[in-house]
Amino acid sequence: MATTTNAGRALDARLGDILTGCNDCGACVKGCAFLKRHGTPGAIARACTPPTSEALAKGFECSLCGLCSAVCPKGLDLEGFFLELRRAAVERGEGNYPQHKPLLNYERLGTSRRFTLYRLPDECRSVFFPGCSLSGTSPAGVQRVFDELKKSDPAVGIVFDCCLKPSHSLGRADYVDSRFSEMNRWLVQLGVREVLVACPNCQAMFQKFGSGLKVRTVWEALAESDLKPRPAAATVTVHDPCVIRFEAPVHQAVRTLLARQGVKVEEMRHSGRRTLCCGQGGAVNLLDPKLAASWGELRKKEADGRRIVTYCAGCTQALGNHTPTSHLVDVIFTPEKALAGKRLGAKEPMTYLNRLRLKRTFLAKEGFAVTRERDAESPDAVQTTKRRKPLVLAAALIALVAAVQLSGAGQYLQQDQLRAVIGSYGALAPAVYVLIYALAPVLFLPGLPITIAGGVLFGPVWGVVYAISGATIGASLAFLVARYVARDWVAAKLTGLRWQRLDREVERHGWKVVAFTRLVPAFPFNLLNYAFGLTKVPFLHYLVVSFFCMLPACIAFIVFSSSLLGLIGGKVSPTTLLGILLIAGVSLIPVLYRRVKARREPEPVTD
Ligand code: SF4
Ligand code: SF4
Repeated sequence: MATTTNAGRALDARLGDILTGCNDCGACVKGCAFLKRHGTPGAIARACTPPTSEALAKGFECSLCGLCSAVCPKGLDLEGFFLELRRAAVERGEGNYPQHKPLLNYERLGTSRRFTLYRLPDECRSVFFPGCSLSGTSPAGVQRVFDELKKSDPAVGIVFDCCLKPSHSLGRADYVDSRFSEMNRWLVQLGVREVLVACPNCQAMFQKFGSGLKVRTVWEALAESDLKPRPAAATVTVHDPCVIRFEAPVHQAVRTLLARQGVKVEEMRHSGRRTLCCGQGGAVNLLDPKLAASWGELRKKEADGRRIVTYCAGCTQALGNHTPTSHLVDVIFTPEKALAGKRLGAKEPMTYLNRLRLKRTFLAKEGFAVTRERDAESPDAVQTTKRRKPLVLAAALIALVAAVQLSGAGQYLQQDQLRAVIGSYGALAPAVYVLIYALAPVLFLPGLPITIAGGVLFGPVWGVVYAISGATIGASLAFLVARYVARDWVAAKLTGLRWQRLDREVERHGWKVVAFTRLVPAFPFNLLNYAFGLTKVPFLHYLVVSFFCMLPACIAFIVFSSSLLGLIGGKVSPTTLLGILLIAGVSLIPVLYRRVKARREPEPVTD
């Protein structure tokens, strides 16, 4: 059945390969519990014509381990076919299993500003990318590996981020494309040419999606170095992670490191390119724990009482539930503990804490020229949302005008009458308005609706006077609270890199930073007021600069909103047009700034 979407076309191509290539010999079925349940890939492909929801859902039961591809005499890419079933399901909106939520949340945190950290020294060409899992389970190991890498390359950098393997395995292709390419682009722009990975999933992701980056494992780098791990007399067996089953040089490097320690390796029946899944592949453990556990039991049987050493933090945890298993990093750096029967490796929620601590440790290290954290949203998505916002507001306004016109409610929206009523309250009305505006920034209330109300209630001249007075008093109150009343509390809230950077920039450029941030809204307005209270900018400078730099936007919105009731009633006055022009002019300031900045330096650098 021909389909026209991207995933549909890719699935058609895969289906064609399997339907014509598979002769149902059954070689792949022998070692796979999933295929034993559903039949040969050929049979599964035939059941996919047409690709019903039920047929596509089968893709989520496959571990994507690739053992079938390794044994298929026809050389078919079978896990690629099962992944395509997942992608087609996701594209139809059918792959959203609630059981996958914890994994996707884990990934979302891994790519968040709080958990990510990029630190590159001058002339950095290689970065160590330890991955989320190992950073959580063995933060000390990550530090030891980094120290070793630094001996051979003093300019090595560090990147704590998520490789997005969970989303990739769950068929979320578009999300992976945008997020991964942003990370890749940033690294390449900064001159990075090599990524050193410790996790096989990261290796697979960089090999598949990376561009302009050489991918090497730290195990290969360490095997080539003159690292002398502490001697350990033990006999173990090695579990090669299935996701890199075809990476023979990595398998070899791991065995070289163990041999250098004096650790004897006895191979299991399935190793190297014929290795088995640990049970966590493709997140099958979340949908079908029994099927996943069957892989672990198989491994236990093959290990036959010998300790398993592996080099994937996920495999270490999964297999550790069935049989004694150690991570290679622990065997290399703390063999006496790792081989003594003690189960190492932190578990949730300690893993999250470890990652935050590790980030803090690397933040405190000297010698890095560039530092950044990453947003959870892709910049493309954020840009799109920002671009859409004015359109949504304009559409809402048009809908409101139409509704008022159709309902005949325009007769009640009389600007002059409203202002006459407000005027009858004398000084009380402006006093209440300024008071509300002054409290809004302190209480984190949005200022724009209050500004608009100012234009409607007081007109273009007095509206500006009252709104700018209220906004300046409010910004000053928040500043003074942060500086003199709740300094520690505010400091505890503003621990991110960009706030630290703001502090440094103020030290360097003083009031100019206040002017810049008022004109280019790179920070949330309400938080910014508090943040400036923590910096060394003098209060008077802050007050005067805030007043003058908030004035253009204030004038633009007040002029526009002063004719808002007329506009809603269907009347477009010269004041309305002037207001629109002024708002457009003010909105152009950040755009112009970014254009100028982009010409001078790569956009995403934040330090
Ligand atoms: S990829 Fe692994 S789990 Fe999936 S069908 Fe092949 S052998 Fe079975
Ligand atoms: S090994 Fe290859 S040809 Fe044989 S049943 Fe499996 S997919 Fe088909």
